[in-house]
This record gives sequence, C-alpha cells and structure tokens, in this order.
Amino acid sequence: MLGRNVRGGDVDDAEISDSTPLAVAMDGPSGTGKSSVSRRLATRLAARYLDTGAMYRVATLRVLRGGVDLTDPAAIAVAVKDLPLTIGTDPSRELIELDGEDVSAEIRGNVVTKAVSAVSAVPEVREQLVALQREIAASSGRIVVEGRDIGTVVLPDADAKIYLTASAQARADRRNQQNIAEGRGDDYEAVLADVQRRDTLDSTRAVSPLRPAEDAVLVDTSDLSMDEVIDELYRVVAQQISMGGGR
Ligand code: C5P
Repeated sequence: MLGRNVRGGDVDDAEISDSTPLAVAMDGPSGTGKSSVSRRLATRLAARYLDTGAMYRVATLRVLRGGVDLTDPAAIAVAVKDLPLTIGTDPSRELIELDGEDVSAEIRGNVVTKAVSAVSAVPEVREQLVALQREIAASSGRIVVEGRDIGTVVLPDADAKIYLTASAQARADRRNQQNIAEGRGDDYEAVLADVQRRDTLDSTRAVSPLRPAEDAVLVDTSDLSMDEVIDELYRVVAQQISMGGGR
C-alpha cells in the first residue's frame, strides 16, 4: 500500500493555531468511523466540515427519483446536471437538502447506499461535484474534507492528508451497529458483503479509484476508541503541518 505510516513522534503536545487557513483531507473506505471522527476533528480544529460522500448520495437520490437506468452513464450525467443541492459545513449541525427538502436521513438508507457506486463512477458527476467541493473548501478558510479522493484529486495541496483504514470485519461491525441504533435492522453478514462489494467497486473504478495519496498518513482505526482516533489524528495533523503539508 502507498502512503506513509507515521506513529509516535515528538508532537504529542503540539498545538495547532486556530487562526490560520487549514485544509485537511480525510480519505478511506466506508465504516472506518470516518464521518464521526472527521466531524469531531473539525470541531477540535475550529474548522468547517464537508462530507463529500453525502454529495454523491444526494446525486444518487436524484437519479433514483428520476427513474434513471443505473447502467446508463449518459442518462445519469443528465439527471445530475444542475443538481439543486444544499450542503452545510457546520460540524455540529447536518444540513443536506435536495431542492430545498431535507434528505439527510433518506440518503443513508439501503436503496441509496446500493446505487451510489454506479452514480459516483460517472466522470461527469465527479467533475461537477469535485468543482463544487473545491469551491466550498476554498471559501471556508479552515476545513476538514472527508471522502475517497480528497488527498489525490480534490485537494492535492491539502495541508494534511490522512487515510483511515480498518479491517473489513471491523468496518462491517461498526456499520451494522449504526444500522441497529438507527432502526435499520441487524444483519452483519449482509453489511459485510456490502462493505466488500463497495470496496471493490470504489477501488477498481476507472475514474478516481479509492487509494491513499502518496503523502497521506495511514491511521488504522480497527482497535482504537473514538477518543484515541481523534487524539492520533490531531497529532498527525500537527506533525504534517510542522513538516510543511502539501502546500
Ligand atoms: O462516505 P459514504 O459512504 O457516504 O460515500 C458513499 C459513496 O460515495 C461511496 O461508496 C463512493 O462510491 C462515493 N464517494 C466517492 N468519492 C467521494 C466520496 C464518496 O466516490 N469523495
């Protein structure tokens, strides 16, 4: 695997100034706890937070509502053009709207989750959403941007790049627990199969496949608590900034 795996070091007590512009790229597969930790890291850094997966999910909802054939990339591109998407960047408050309607719950459901890889593989969809992601990041000053291709494509000059990993089993277990907590049922085997299916689709697609940026720091969350992950990430960000980041 590419990427630097840095642990330990001498920046444990480092403080990151909360007044300078800062872009943190957080990438990795689903189920690593990426969204929760990215949100909390953003809060700790006094930064904005952008969930790019939610943007692909909203695009997918639009495609599904339009009855578009998921095997027809040209039709998907047309359906997503001029997407009436509103996405907030406050880490303490989720705001995701499609045409003014709050779709934050619907985009997490199984129907969207199953279809999202097909939509996110369409180059026109990616171009459109990447442009919007760059605009939001540029106008935010300090931001943690979470996704799959942030360090490689969206923000190659980010000040810090982190790639979260965890075993497929640990990731499936987390997602399954989340499903149970949010009333979507308990089916570990199905969740594991879906995690593996999406990993394969996301890492083998032609456009922006899921992979760590060469200058990303790998952090394995399998055996770490949420607090431990946040501490490790804060330390890694401080270390990357002290080394000059990507800019
Ligand atoms: O992170 P989340 O599970 O919400 O992402 C949903 C899907 O959106 C992923 O499985 C992937 O297909 C797509 N995605 C992407 N690029 C990103 C973020 C998400 O292709 N930067």
